[in-house]
Amino acid sequence: MTSQEASAFRIAIAGGGIAGLTLALVLKKFKNDKNIVIDLYEARHKFSESGAGITAWLRTRSIFDTLGLGENFEKRTASPRMMFRKGNNQDPFFFYEFEVPHGSATLSRQDMLDILVDDLSPELLPYLHIHLCKKLVSYEQDADAVVMHFEDGSSAQADILIGADGLASPTRKEMYTKMSEDMRGIDPERADILKKHCLPSWIGTHAYRALLNHRRIEKINPNNIFLNQLIVGFGVRQHIISYPISPEVINILFFDTSPNSIDKPLQGPSMVPSSKEEIMALYKDWEGDAREVIETIDDTSRWAMSHVRALPTYVDCRVALVGDSAHAMATHLGAGAGQAVEDAYILGHILADPIVNKDNVIQALNVYDTIRRPIAHDVVEESLRLGGVYELDPTAMREDMDSAKLEAGDREELQKLVSVFRDITTVHFTGMPENDWYQARAMLYGRLHKQNGHL
Ligand SMILES: Cc1cc2nc3c(=O)[nH]c(=O)nc-3n(C[C@H](O)[C@H](O)[C@H](O)COP(=O)(O)OP(=O)(O)OC[C@H]3O[C@@H](n4cnc5c(N)ncnc54)[C@H](O)[C@@H]3O)c2cc1C
Repeated sequence: MTSQEASAFRIAIAGGGIAGLTLALVLKKFKNDKNIVIDLYEARHKFSESGAGITAWLRTRSIFDTLGLGENFEKRTASPRMMFRKGNNQDPFFFYEFEVPHGSATLSRQDMLDILVDDLSPELLPYLHIHLCKKLVSYEQDADAVVMHFEDGSSAQADILIGADGLASPTRKEMYTKMSEDMRGIDPERADILKKHCLPSWIGTHAYRALLNHRRIEKINPNNIFLNQLIVGFGVRQHIISYPISPEVINILFFDTSPNSIDKPLQGPSMVPSSKEEIMALYKDWEGDAREVIETIDDTSRWAMSHVRALPTYVDCRVALVGDSAHAMATHLGAGAGQAVEDAYILGHILADPIVNKDNVIQALNVYDTIRRPIAHDVVEESLRLGGVYELDPTAMREDMDSAKLEAGDREELQKLVSVFRDITTVHFTGMPENDWYQARAMLYGRLHKQNGHL
């Protein structure tokens, strides 16, 4: 370690997914000559994303623009028109078609990660140390530092640890286990609540994911409605989302929700192999085009969708959570990656600011928590609600809406769903992340100046 490194502000990031990599890039963009060293620990042997398509909204795209990645991003995205269809019987029809609002665009998840990785070349970043095959298993912290322990038996130290380690986050598990243990002797009931936050909970929905071969479907039926557009097929406790992710490949998800199962603990593994027969049994009453594409599926898996709901904090002293680790959400709003990017943008800006140092970083992390947590919580809840809208769930509807009419396919009533969709997606265009940073900055300077005795 050089002497410059020895005196540096050391930031450890556990997880090299969308949140972790974006954080490294935001630090690179804004740190100027601040003496920061970043250690990024990724459990896998390379940076990779599983799953197929992803939606990015204007807010996310504006951050990519700020990071200088906008052009690369635009090259890889598409903006298909979105079509709402009532498709769960033999009398299917489209009831709305529109350009998705708020600058929505789709791209493959691996493309999104590649855009970030391409900008992280180690030659450019002598202060970034990437450690692959390093799986965090636990940490401990004191007033001055965090010590991390890895599966291979090694340990490392940093001034702060950022848990960007995804849905099953060991950082969150460790954080909430420790907070629960500390609370046990004071308030056992509160300790039990904290303990529950260690793990994500099931939203009550299974998603069957598959990639469809465009040419194969075209041969069977060149007019199949799933060939070209972004389609949301509305049903009762079921819905379909489908959109092309390349000229040859269509990404499709079939959702199936069990009544009264939200936030029940997940029984069994979150992902299991499945079959077209299983999907067909669930979707046997749906329209012919849906059954036609199901018949072409060679490979599919059943995924139990989980979320991380309403954590009481994203920060414990020198440790903070970002991305899915803090607020994994249902995919219905297509906002999980965007929220991960926004966390990284605000936190990276804060940590790169010249006013923040090893001694006041705990207050700085709390500013991140104050700004980001309410926004991300909202998006978690709205994501869940949008799934309810797609599945005609009465609890997701407005008071002026009639579920029986919706189920029966009343066109006028179905039109009301469009305004609900617009209300929900509005969370993505009320302001830009830049405004959240201005607010964070004012709070940061206010709190740290007060602490330093300035008025
Ligand atoms: C099928 C599907 C569809 C989705 N669609 C959308 C969409 O349309 N729009 C959208 O915005 N979002 C979508 N999402 C959500 C989005 O992918 C996530 O919100 C996003 O990837 C979160 O990024 P992250 O970096 O927090 O977590 P992840 O991308 O999961 O990255 C976590 C990283 O941490 C690493 N890691 C895990 N454990 C450890 C450990 N112990 N030590 C070190 N490293 C570790 C993992 O290997 C991984 O690289 C979708 C998700 C899925 C599964």
